[in-house]
Amino acid sequence: MTTSTTVAVIGGGYAGMSAAVELASRGVAVTVFEAAPALGGRARRVTVNDTALDNGLHILIGAYSETLRLIDKVAPKRDSFLRLPLDLQIHNQFHLRAPKLPAPLHVAWALFTAKGIGLEDKRAAARFMNAMKSCQYQLPQDCTVAALLAEHLQPVVLIEYLWGPLCVAALNTPAQRASAQVFLNVLRDSLGAGRAASDLLLARMDLTALLPKPAADYVRARGGQVEPGATVERITRDGDGFNVQVHGTMRRFARVICAVAPHRVTPLLADIAELHTTAQQIEALRYEPIHSVWLQFDGTVKLPSPMIGLAGSPAQWLFDREAICGQRGLIGAVISASEEQVGEAQNDLARRVVADIAAAFGPLPKLLWHRVIAEKRATFSCTPDLVRPAVQTPCPGFVLAGDYVAGDYPATIEAAVRSGVHAATLIR
Ligand SMILES: Cc1cc2nc3c(=O)[nH]c(=O)nc-3n(C[C@H](O)[C@H](O)[C@H](O)COP(=O)(O)OP(=O)(O)OC[C@H]3O[C@@H](n4cnc5c(N)ncnc54)[C@H](O)[C@@H]3O)c2cc1C
Repeated sequence: MTTSTTVAVIGGGYAGMSAAVELASRGVAVTVFEAAPALGGRARRVTVNDTALDNGLHILIGAYSETLRLIDKVAPKRDSFLRLPLDLQIHNQFHLRAPKLPAPLHVAWALFTAKGIGLEDKRAAARFMNAMKSCQYQLPQDCTVAALLAEHLQPVVLIEYLWGPLCVAALNTPAQRASAQVFLNVLRDSLGAGRAASDLLLARMDLTALLPKPAADYVRARGGQVEPGATVERITRDGDGFNVQVHGTMRRFARVICAVAPHRVTPLLADIAELHTTAQQIEALRYEPIHSVWLQFDGTVKLPSPMIGLAGSPAQWLFDREAICGQRGLIGAVISASEEQVGEAQNDLARRVVADIAAAFGPLPKLLWHRVIAEKRATFSCTPDLVRPAVQTPCPGFVLAGDYVAGDYPATIEAAVRSGVHAATLIR
């Protein structure tokens, strides 16, 4: 057994790498253990036919302040994103676009110039935003997004084209089941905040390169260690420290940040009696899938916008990777809260999406290859009054990080990063 007084960070996703960067920047010796060969977890690079894809298409927004701060810290002055002012377009059905006006005029203008909804619908949307602003986006009692929208008499067309798609994109949970309070937290920090907060940020590089890889370089440059391919098998207490078992060998650490996905946490808590209640809370979480469909065509496919919605297709959003990051002929399609697609043959799903794209935008070049990536437990199901475990646990020196820990946000990159930063603060 080797002895050490460093901090072990278990999991090299966005939460774990954020915690490691924060600790390393303050001179704390840190070791990151990551089970997979690549860093990034649920936001990671996947290489197919020499093309760098992601396991899932991700949208970030200007409100992701901690994520943007950390990216700037580990990769300063890099042109990381294609940044678009809020632009929600569902092909041939709906288009809402924010102009370069100061807040809240940008949202008011976007609503009143929106195409595909009538004047009464626009008034209803403005009334809803005003009502939420006057209660400071805080509900006396959580309920579902659908119930909140019904209470505020939101027309069907608004639910179909605006609130519903926003809810699924942000919470990965359909409005009928999603937490209205968490939805309002996101609205408060995006549409309800400064103009740049609602900007859409599309990464110009794969998601491992966006933060986890430069974060690992940053940690190593400050004397820390990042060990991919190292699965933590067990954690036990050892006096006021912890033994962490990797590849059958025990390594001792003074502190542990457990930053693995919620469905992988509980076996790691099993040997620490103080953590049994925490483990039960985590086991009670339910999950929502996301399917990503990658289509490589033999030539340019020009979509009207780098990101565009499709009505009447399983693919809710399409991404033109040539416009975003120069990957010629590569289209990504995302299907959030994709319960219906679980079990569908991947070839059939890909064929269906290709047919929908052709029907919407005209003939396509030859399809060279496709890849469907199904993440069955992409995020926790973000339902009303959900009990999420705190970063600080009842076991001194052992903290949790991850998109599922208690916080304002649904399971997102920003939630993961914030939890990692918080965990690092507590550890110090
Ligand atoms: C398809 C998809 C699309 C998404 N779209 C968006 C989006 O558009 N916008 C957005 O903000 N968010 C999106 N998300 C959510 C976002 O990706 C996650 O919230 C975030 O990546 C979670 O980070 P994390 O660090 O908490 O957990 P994870 O990314 O799950 O990281 C945990 C890490 O721990 C490792 N690990 C597990 N067990 C062990 C062990 N025993 N030992 C060592 N390592 C271990 C795992 O390999 C993993 O790398 C999406 C997620 C998916 C799956």
